[in-house]
Amino acid sequence: MPVRKRLDLLTLIILSPFVIYHTIGHNWLPALAGISVWVFLAVSVLMPEGHRRQQQIHHLVHIAVGLGLLYFSWWDPYNGMLWATAYSVSIYLILAPRMAFSAHLVFLVLFVLVQKLAVGQDWLQTVRFVGVQALVAAFCLVFAVDRVRKERELRALAATDPLTRIANRREVLSRLQDALVMRQRYAQPVSLILLDIDHFKSINDRLGHMAGDQVLLYFVRVVSLNLRGSDLLGRLGGEEFIVVLRNTALPAARSVAEKVVSATAAGGFPEVGKVTVSAGVIEARQNEKLESCLRRADEAMYMAKHRGRNQVATLDN
Ligand code: GH3
Ligand code: MG
Ligand code: MG
Repeated sequence: MPVRKRLDLLTLIILSPFVIYHTIGHNWLPALAGISVWVFLAVSVLMPEGHRRQQQIHHLVHIAVGLGLLYFSWWDPYNGMLWATAYSVSIYLILAPRMAFSAHLVFLVLFVLVQKLAVGQDWLQTVRFVGVQALVAAFCLVFAVDRVRKERELRALAATDPLTRIANRREVLSRLQDALVMRQRYAQPVSLILLDIDHFKSINDRLGHMAGDQVLLYFVRVVSLNLRGSDLLGRLGGEEFIVVLRNTALPAARSVAEKVVSATAAGGFPEVGKVTVSAGVIEARQNEKLESCLRRADEAMYMAKHRGRNQVATLDN
């Protein structure tokens, strides 16, 4: 169960004695406030994961709990203050740091207003309360910002090829899938270049794996220099790479591939000698699936290999 749902379930359980106590005691207002929060929490727990309304329900749950707490603190200010601390922590667990800070600030202002206007709390007490809340905010923000940074790092790590630092297979194929969806929606052409370094195994065999790795790094640099910002280069595996060219039809994709092939052959290392690459180019058809695009690009690339390598082959649509 995702952590947010677990938190909702826990809140629901903790809230239950409160709801039962006030319902049995016929204290209808607190009972109704508790029940409405309870219902929101239950909906949130039962909602299937990934539902598009999930985020909104979560925010509603939080607003409902906050309002319930404000009401509760009206007639029980001491316990209200205790619960406010738990509530403030939960805001930082649920929301993104900046949003959580704003929500916390709004809650604090309203809470202090209720305490001062309705309960007539003295200033010393208010200052103490705000001091504790500021500490909660500081601690929680440090952890929340750190969590967001780690999540971002993890996401980048999961999308990157460790050797070449370009998109890995999973990332580039998922971006290709997105590009194909956009192609259907906006009728913009999408082309693919499949690149396979020629006789790469012999480089490894002659000079070792480390030299092979250096060739891969060199190759990625050469290809990147010949692409536009909107093109995406990814490593499919081994010495096979793919370029996804959005908004690009077959003739333009072919000339990009030709530039890459000749730039690769023009460079090279003294000890490795000439490095060449074969390229297969296709343009995605209307409604063409990802697997079919890859299969055709592979077919084109093998045509280039069979025709003598160090060249480009295309398949017409
Ligand atoms: P072809 O021209 O037909 O493409 O021949 P090739 O030798 O390039 O093709 P083959 O598929 O036979 O060999 C690919 C080699 O790539 C085999 C494998 O050892 C090597 N390889 C795969 N991943 C890596 C890597 O990360 N680093 C290095 N150095 N070598 C790798
Ligand atoms: Mg190869
Ligand atoms: Mg290969």
